[in-house]
Amino acid sequence: MTDATAFPSASDAGRAHLERLARRAADAAASAPARSSPYEGAGLDVHARIDAAVEDLEAELLGLGRALHADPEPGFEEHRAVARVADLLRAHGITARTGAHGLPTALRASAGSGDGPTVAVLAEYDALPGIGHGCGHHIICAAAVGAFLALVPVLERTGGTAVLLGTPAEENGTGKELLARAGAFDGVDAAVMIHPSSGPDLSDAPFLGLREVVVEYTGRAAHASAAPFMGRNALDAVVAAYQGVAALRQHILPDDRVHGVITEGGSRPNVVPERAAAHFYLRAATVESLAELSDRVQRIFEGAAAMTGTTVTTRWDDCPPCVPVRHNDVLAARFAQHLTGRGRTVLPGSAAPDSALGSTDLGNVSVRIPAIHPMLSVAPAGTALHTAEFAACAQGAEADRAVLDGAAALARTVADHLSDSDLRAAVEREFTEAGGALDVPKLLSTPTSP
Ligand SMILES: [Zn+2]
Ligand SMILES: [Zn+2]
Repeated sequence: MTDATAFPSASDAGRAHLERLARRAADAAASAPARSSPYEGAGLDVHARIDAAVEDLEAELLGLGRALHADPEPGFEEHRAVARVADLLRAHGITARTGAHGLPTALRASAGSGDGPTVAVLAEYDALPGIGHGCGHHIICAAAVGAFLALVPVLERTGGTAVLLGTPAEENGTGKELLARAGAFDGVDAAVMIHPSSGPDLSDAPFLGLREVVVEYTGRAAHASAAPFMGRNALDAVVAAYQGVAALRQHILPDDRVHGVITEGGSRPNVVPERAAAHFYLRAATVESLAELSDRVQRIFEGAAAMTGTTVTTRWDDCPPCVPVRHNDVLAARFAQHLTGRGRTVLPGSAAPDSALGSTDLGNVSVRIPAIHPMLSVAPAGTALHTAEFAACAQGAEADRAVLDGAAALARTVADHLSDSDLRAAVEREFTEAGGALDVPKLLSTPTSP
């Protein structure tokens, strides 16, 4: 008999892997040259005024973050979070529009001349059911509100317009795609935000595209013992589909992901299940590979129907897909320089631990206008997002520091964009060379039978 204790458990191996990644990230951080950007930007005086404004706002911003953390609301239901943001803005003489762009928990406020360039600072505030702020979106919100309020007093100097856009349902609804389709980014030249993380600070980070599919099988019910030959088993079809996806995983690209749950599998052992269903997420590093992966998964679903004599229907994209993020490196380098100035070490995304691959609806903004989504560390390396552990780390000294550093660096970056036409031209040039604005709703077609 094999001695089972001779093998490390899966969790031991997993922990060792995460520790290796953390060490690699720490080594990269120790030897990383400070990122710098050759542009003049808004100048030292404006930057100093922004820093002073963030300092003045400290108690209000940290209070906002704590209030959101203590009162988590899921996507599309962030009513109290939005009310808190609107109240804070009102206390500073700014009227926000809640329910903007047709989404009840979206928010929009703007300040500045109304002409010249416009930059949007994006605030997420949705939480995860049962986990709370396990993705730390309260930090995103507090930093964004801080950046916007710190920009208000310098807009006379920089010219242009700053917008604060509250974007609902990042976790469960691709809220930014809904906002984009409703025109929220029309006339906006760039969008910036931060996201908390457990790795090193990153000026940019890889994010996968994401789409979802619901698959339903219909068979024929029958007495499972007396007349099973009269039945066609929908649960068998779902199981075959699930196993087919499991076999597929060995032969897909390293960054591709497929993961799902069986949502319906019959009701009683003595009745051949007539209906069964499953819900899958698919992810990939490019739109093209996501499309190819979708086609392969669709074929598996159809094959499972053929194997079991059932019929299949697939429903793709109930929630609009997320597109892989296209970072604007000119803006990201600017942000990194400002964050470095606050005593943090910022790495380029290429130094990111390779297991930290999620998705974000900021991707859908980033292929419409230049955008950044830097990651600020608030938790020890290896702490997984979407867990109670991360939610616990997302309050306290590191989280507070991320709010204030994030607010100041975002505001400085926006001020630079608004004031420096050379910087704006470089941002635009990079965006155009990367493919320009894409027609996002047309990027991914629905897989169909060949
Ligand atoms: Zn998340
Ligand atoms: Zn998140």
